[in-house]
Amino acid sequence: MPNQGPGARKALHTPQVQGWCPGAWQPMASGDGLVVRVRPPMGRLTLHQAWRLARLARTHGAGILELSSRANVQLRGVDPARHAAVLRALAGCGLLDADMQRERLRNVVVDPLRQPGDGVEVLATVLLQGLAEADYLGALPAKFGWAIDGGHSPWLQTVSADIRMQRVPGADPHAWRVQPEGLPWALAATGPVGAAAAGLALARWFASHCLGQRAPGLRPGRLASHAGELERLLTSATPQSPWPAGLPAGVHWVPARSVPRAAPQWPGPEPCFVPDIGSLVGAPLGRVPAPALARLVGALRGHASGLRVTPWRMLLIETGAQAKGQPGFWHAAGLDTVADWVTDPEDARLRVSACTGAPGCPQAQAPTQALALALAPQVPPQAHLHVSGCAKGCARQAPATVTLRAEPTLGEPVFALVRQGCAADEALDRVALSALQDNSGLLFEKN
Ligand code: SF4
Repeated sequence: MPNQGPGARKALHTPQVQGWCPGAWQPMASGDGLVVRVRPPMGRLTLHQAWRLARLARTHGAGILELSSRANVQLRGVDPARHAAVLRALAGCGLLDADMQRERLRNVVVDPLRQPGDGVEVLATVLLQGLAEADYLGALPAKFGWAIDGGHSPWLQTVSADIRMQRVPGADPHAWRVQPEGLPWALAATGPVGAAAAGLALARWFASHCLGQRAPGLRPGRLASHAGELERLLTSATPQSPWPAGLPAGVHWVPARSVPRAAPQWPGPEPCFVPDIGSLVGAPLGRVPAPALARLVGALRGHASGLRVTPWRMLLIETGAQAKGQPGFWHAAGLDTVADWVTDPEDARLRVSACTGAPGCPQAQAPTQALALALAPQVPPQAHLHVSGCAKGCARQAPATVTLRAEPTLGEPVFALVRQGCAADEALDRVALSALQDNSGLLFEKN
């Protein structure tokens, strides 16, 4: 792979950081129209809701639905003149919050592998109710988010969250840890209701802290950037004067368990049958064509109760307990259409990530998706390739074995090559698109 010159070791382009995520109420303008992000309640779509989304994508958008890394569903290419019609349709099927603030606060990733009785749904319900009723959280940063992890897999630990709520399996009643991101301490609660109340007390403190920061014109940033202040308050708290205020009785601070972070080669979840829940199926690069979703939903009637949207760009089809192997609806649902779905755990497309890239994203320096799919067969098992349109790295926050970051250029697309890192990391090399296409095997040979 040719090194393209002395500037190769630095990212040449600083992407614009918006500081907020699109929603349904507040879509984001992109190169192909509006991005309308829908937050399914509890990370779950009824079959009717999924069918409505497929229809909306076809009639008002670009005909594609994107599964986001926060378990949301995005419509792309929505004409601004059609936004009001999209909102009406979403409201009509229970997919629209009362207002923009409620939608922004409801940034909660709920464990899609939850099981009856594990407390995840109870905790999520209490937390969502608290967020819907809270009139004291308006000052939280726009991206403030939560993750509720039932402890059924390691995969939720890679999801970004300001407050992470984790079940401790084995305890009776289930114990929970509520951990502010960046702090080596967590609040211990003996049940989901206490855990939700503890999380809301933390959020209340952070909202008032943000308010104080904003008064002189500062930007508060995410919770992790205040870890020093949190630690100071925590160590000065006493049983008579606990911190934060409003903690429920019995909730107390304990050292947090160390959470293993995703390694570049950490494989993600694979398509499989999840016992007692259903079938986990992927979509190439997390993009589902609207006709494929409509066909799936049509075939699932009578076989499944809904679809759980996962933060791994996969859908979990809720069939409940079923015999192992392909269910009867597989072919009718189009799940054997390789172009639309990823159902084989060996499928190389599971080993690549790519953002929207050009021309859909105005910040992109080159197209990304076709390149990622073309290079997928070269990616060995246990490795991961991330192709990013710029240094922002929207498609993958965790490190990857190889990251290709599109760089500004006037001619043929050029990619910075990062090994064992993220899109914004220092590059080893710069590689022209034609060199990648001609020598794609070398990308992983060096490893
Ligand atoms: S990473 Fe991709 S989608 Fe995100 S801003 Fe950059 S080019 Fe756009």
